[in-house]
Amino acid sequence: MNTSPSPLPNYLAGRWQTGSGPGTLLRDPVLGTELARVSSGGLDLAEGFAFAREQGGRALRAMSYRERAALLAAAVKVLQTHRDAYYEIATANSGTTAKDSAVDIDGGIFTLGYYAKQGKALGDVRFMLDGRPARMGKDPSFQSQHVMVPTHGVALFINAFNFPSWGLWEKAAPALLSGVPVIVKPATATAWLTQRMVQDVIDAGVLPAGALSVVCGSSNGLMDALQPFDVVSFTGSAETAHVIRSHRAVTSESVRVNIEADSLNSALLAPDADADSEVFKLLVSELVREMTVKAGQKCTAIRRIFVPAALYDAAAQTIGAKLAGVTVGNPRNTSVRMGSLVSREQLDAVQAGLAQLRTQSEVLHDGASHALVDADPAIAACVGPTLLGTRQPSDVQMPHEIEVFGPVATLMPYASLDEALKLIRRGQGSLVTSLYCDDPAFIADAALELASMHGRVHAISPDVAATQSGHGNVMPMSLHGGPGRAGGGEELGGLRALNFYHRRCAVQASTAALQRLGASV
Ligand code: NAP
Repeated sequence: MNTSPSPLPNYLAGRWQTGSGPGTLLRDPVLGTELARVSSGGLDLAEGFAFAREQGGRALRAMSYRERAALLAAAVKVLQTHRDAYYEIATANSGTTAKDSAVDIDGGIFTLGYYAKQGKALGDVRFMLDGRPARMGKDPSFQSQHVMVPTHGVALFINAFNFPSWGLWEKAAPALLSGVPVIVKPATATAWLTQRMVQDVIDAGVLPAGALSVVCGSSNGLMDALQPFDVVSFTGSAETAHVIRSHRAVTSESVRVNIEADSLNSALLAPDADADSEVFKLLVSELVREMTVKAGQKCTAIRRIFVPAALYDAAAQTIGAKLAGVTVGNPRNTSVRMGSLVSREQLDAVQAGLAQLRTQSEVLHDGASHALVDADPAIAACVGPTLLGTRQPSDVQMPHEIEVFGPVATLMPYASLDEALKLIRRGQGSLVTSLYCDDPAFIADAALELASMHGRVHAISPDVAATQSGHGNVMPMSLHGGPGRAGGGEELGGLRALNFYHRRCAVQASTAALQRLGASV
């Protein structure tokens, strides 16, 4: 009897299609059991992309922003009715606790709902004016008006394994609202949740045919299927980002690309803090949260912590003591605070990265000291949180260069603010840095110093301790992305996110014609 799990169907060209060949097996990272198979073998990608471009794109562009916002709101309702199933899939396929699954599942649904509300306010129009008409010469009869129209292509999303829900919806919401059809390729390891969410929305019939497609399994041929007016939004490693950027579609056909890659995010405790201060406590609790949420598999997680030199030992001790109390293991056990990494391959990658970092740092708290709860260390991809430290941060390279995508961070002392800022900049561009300080003037100055190297500067002071959104929590009204090493991409940030899916054109015409154009908005 063949007990191999059945393949998850792909949705392409308006129909469910099973890929050929054995594909790849998805496993429970804690129990090691087989869950499903994925395969994109034999799919006619050219047909699927053309169907999305032509049928999906045409249907979406025929609607106004308000109508498309209503589609997002309908999708939110569909997803909410299936939340329980999503939590089960996340636990099984990603090894996450219920709290961590919520970050991905409810975070994704929330972001979709946010864009449904924002889009409604854009009204019953099909394009946007960008600025006001500008005279082209002395005579006012001939002017230039910039317009923003949805691109006539598809949006291909190539996503990372750590956010199978949020990673889909944070990109799909602005794309669909803009009138651009979506084809999502989830990371293979955790593809099930993305596939199931797409299936629920498709089966509910709330979107026009071709508006949303999903391809699970190998990425072979996806980039080759792109055409000049398509866009690609990639989240993942710097190595794969390089492959995407070098592809002919990008280099020769000007396919617009957005890259979210890896990032050595930092946290800075203000120079005047002491070990009894509120900001010290806030730093410790935020760091422990950041290291343990989703077992540190968050692109925004704090990887480097900078504290005044006099507080290095106190910080090491306090953070280490808190980490020691973190229970690690099977997320189905309610006493477990930190679940698993997504696969044994990720466990190997984390161990390899840790070994490298350890050659230039001391171990302040060892993740290996955590006994696993309800999980077999020979099978489960679980690992305890490790705090490393180096007393000479200016003399070492690795903590500023190696991103270990797990519950690992490095503590570093600084002698002067100038040194701390220089060390933060050695991350070569990050998604987010957080400041722990109760002086608004310091926060304002430091934020401006760090702004050009970061997508976000997140300042935590005692007055906002209960209301701040969290260092690593990406909210749709705020920009997500970062310069340099972080990929140079920009996502979210409210309606700014729609820019990526629109083309800007200057219409140069008579004032009368431009008035006519303006009146149709
Ligand atoms: P990855 O190996 O680069 O994979 C990312 C995606 O690219 C997957 O869907 C993968 O498919 C696909 N892919 C692999 N090779 C490809 C190719 N030649 N052409 C097209 N697509 C290809 O990254 P990962 O290991 O899944 O993700 C972890 C990394 O993502 C970390 O470095 C983390 O920092 C980064 N990340 C960044 C953000 C952010 O917002 N900045 C968010 C999350 C994660 P398969 O899975 O089928 O190989």
